[in-house]
Amino acid sequence: MTARLIVDLHALDTNIRRVQTRLAPAELMLVVKNDAYGHGISRVVPRALALGVSWFGAFDVATAAAVRRAVGDGPRIFVWLVPGRQEIGDALTLDADVGVGDADVLEDVAAVAAARSQRARVHLKIDTGLHRNGIRPEEWADAVGRARSLQDAGLIEVVGIWSHIAEASDDEDDAARAAFDHAVEVARAAGLTPALRHLAASAAGTTRPEFRYEMTRVGAFCYGIAPAGGPSAADLGLTPIGTLTASVIAVEGNDAIIDIGVFDGLPSPLAGRADVGTPGGARRLLTVGEESRVEGWPGMVPGDDVVIYGTGSQGDPTSTDLAEALDTIGEEIAVRLSPAVRREYDDARSALQS
Ligand SMILES: *Cc1c(COP(=O)(O)O)cnc(C)c1O
Repeated sequence: MTARLIVDLHALDTNIRRVQTRLAPAELMLVVKNDAYGHGISRVVPRALALGVSWFGAFDVATAAAVRRAVGDGPRIFVWLVPGRQEIGDALTLDADVGVGDADVLEDVAAVAAARSQRARVHLKIDTGLHRNGIRPEEWADAVGRARSLQDAGLIEVVGIWSHIAEASDDEDDAARAAFDHAVEVARAAGLTPALRHLAASAAGTTRPEFRYEMTRVGAFCYGIAPAGGPSAADLGLTPIGTLTASVIAVEGNDAIIDIGVFDGLPSPLAGRADVGTPGGARRLLTVGEESRVEGWPGMVPGDDVVIYGTGSQGDPTSTDLAEALDTIGEEIAVRLSPAVRREYDDARSALQS
């Protein structure tokens, strides 16, 4: 198999620094779900740590475990999918902070903490309108009251209050923020003193200062991927860090057959809708199957490299461009890439710098 994702660690450094500068004084929580959006936790996370990132957003316990392996003890890991006591126990073993968006989960966290004689660090999630997960506003007062009791009993410590917003329209986001601020007031009135409020992700976090609070959870922009809504990554001076290439394995008439396809995570609906970068310039992706077919170029030969997505320079598409060709969000292409596709890490420029 010739397909490989080349990850530019220097570009990762630059993106993270730009995002940190933009968010300051709010802290960056680097979101690393889906194996750091397909780029590889084991390399991305230590790199971020070296730049002073001390919070990692892990989604599930398996991801949290990979982060802990990569960073060792100390850096904070936030895991917000802990559906049962097993996962909660695993999260506490990893010394992770847990996101709690449900009154039953709050009870489970307390029960697990009690059984382990450990105090769980909890971030309570208010549902500010997405209805995906989160404590409903009408249940919030009871939930924070209960959390206060559990905190007084030494089982939990409410260190944060958070929510997730659509970042699709300013009006909806503003309404969500008002609901969020109200929830924080209710929690404080109940005697909780959460030090961390976190609400926004890439789009609102980078463009709207009032959404940053003490911490902002950013994934897409750190990888140079544009999220739904908001400015493009390029507008903010961010570069895609992953370049996916595959080689020509055969020439058939006017077409080149390339060594990448659906089993590598290339979505078949891209056929006929997207261009890829070839030595002859941008060419249409004609079919996506087990292998894929690309409109040819003069002088093409087996072994030529084709850029499926990359930095967007020299006419190559970005993964955001491919996602837009499918009317989906930027990260959707990057996170689908099969773990079997080889990852290579390009560290050349930063080695020169240091
Ligand atoms: C994925 C995710 C983020 C990061 O979103 P980006 O748009 O990639 O920055 C933040 N918070 C939660 C809860 C998420 O699931």
